[in-house]
Amino acid sequence: MSTSDYSFFKGVERSFDKAAKFTRFSAGILEQIKACNSILRVKFPVRIGDGVEVIEAYRVQHSHHKLPCKGGIRFSMEVNQDEVMALAALMTYKCAIVNVPFGGGKGGIKIDSKKYSVFDLEKITRRYTSELCKKNFIGPGIDVPAPDYGTSGREMSWIVDTYSSLNPNDVNAMACVTGKPISQGGVRGRVEATGLGVFFGIREACAFEEDMVKLGLTTGIRGKRVIIQGLGNVGYHAAKYFQNAGAIIVGLIEYNGAIYDANGIDVDMAQAHRAKSGSLLNFPNARNIENISEGLEQACDILIPAALESVIHKDNASRIQAKIIGEAANGPLTPDADEILLRKGVLVIPDMYLNAGGVTVSYFEWLKNLSHVRYGRLEKRFSENRYAEIINSVESMTNKKVSEVERKIILKGPDEIDLVHSGLEDTMMGSYQEIREIYVNTPGVDDMRTAAFICAINKIGVSYEELGIFP
Ligand code: GLU
Repeated sequence: MSTSDYSFFKGVERSFDKAAKFTRFSAGILEQIKACNSILRVKFPVRIGDGVEVIEAYRVQHSHHKLPCKGGIRFSMEVNQDEVMALAALMTYKCAIVNVPFGGGKGGIKIDSKKYSVFDLEKITRRYTSELCKKNFIGPGIDVPAPDYGTSGREMSWIVDTYSSLNPNDVNAMACVTGKPISQGGVRGRVEATGLGVFFGIREACAFEEDMVKLGLTTGIRGKRVIIQGLGNVGYHAAKYFQNAGAIIVGLIEYNGAIYDANGIDVDMAQAHRAKSGSLLNFPNARNIENISEGLEQACDILIPAALESVIHKDNASRIQAKIIGEAANGPLTPDADEILLRKGVLVIPDMYLNAGGVTVSYFEWLKNLSHVRYGRLEKRFSENRYAEIINSVESMTNKKVSEVERKIILKGPDEIDLVHSGLEDTMMGSYQEIREIYVNTPGVDDMRTAAFICAINKIGVSYEELGIFP
């Protein structure tokens, strides 16, 4: 884990500076892109049991070049200003890379959510939201939070309800937060979005033959050995999509135990075992790895850290055996680890691209809330009628009948989930190709993180130039 003198924000700046050299922007513009625009730190009292607890919380708006600011809210004891600043900065670059028109933001409440009852968590979340309202740090056009480490749709429901009560005239109040349950204005596909985006991103990377040959791998996902750290929302869904695509999940790592089985681990069975016994340990046929950090060092083709930051650092990077690391978490590699892995020839697919599926689908949710209509509602039946006409014409022209099974597949108009998944797939594939173009065509750029930063800086730099700076 992170050492106390390590600054996550400085680590992000270091990667930014490395990439900035390959762009054409002036020092002033680069400084402005890098700077954290607004930082809110609050301490507020909450009545817990018979006493009062003072809770420390943050919201950082890293960039206002596009509004609203966007990014999750995490509940963790690791929350501090440096961490939230770094995560907010990554959101700015992430949104730019996947062409989501938002600035970056992030929030955090320094609590161990396991220590509180649901009732207490609700009080803390609602009070935090009212602090954000008071300081104008939340709103559909200002700053739109979402789930992150330790939070989910449940917390988002409390946030939207608190915001709506305090802003009863705001017809767009639903769009003040994303990642909501469907009944509260959420969009279908948001829950699995980050994990599915991780899958689409790595699948795209594995489709380039020349890149795979360099790593000594074949193209495609089928048969690839995968280790996943973290079976939360992101890791679990990523694991499922990899398994369904024919990958072999050889290792799973959780905070209280890791397991390895070269023949493959069934994700749902392992998850059920964990729910029953409290940890992954002693899963049938798998080898226990008591020291969880050694789980990352086991033999595999693809390693997916999907938990917290700085888990691969200068002391363990040289022992990593994976050929591809997919950063599903934010900042799982320190810059020192990055350099070591680069020298080893490992392909690192960077966080600010790879885990952008969440914010991409959040963007779809925000648009849904602003348009006040479910995706597919207007066009589904229209499309089905048109497809029926096309089939009829083809049948009468060819004098042949389409089979009932085919007819059913062709006739189906798009539902919300179909549109969200295809929008996500297109985004992840297109953005990977954009980053790879930069990687391949920029002399001196030898890693995908630098290419991703260049991609982001180019877009944000142009945005600042064309926006003009207020005199
Ligand atoms: N917390 C997620 C992230 O770090 C999602 C952010 C969002 O949807 O706004 O990307």
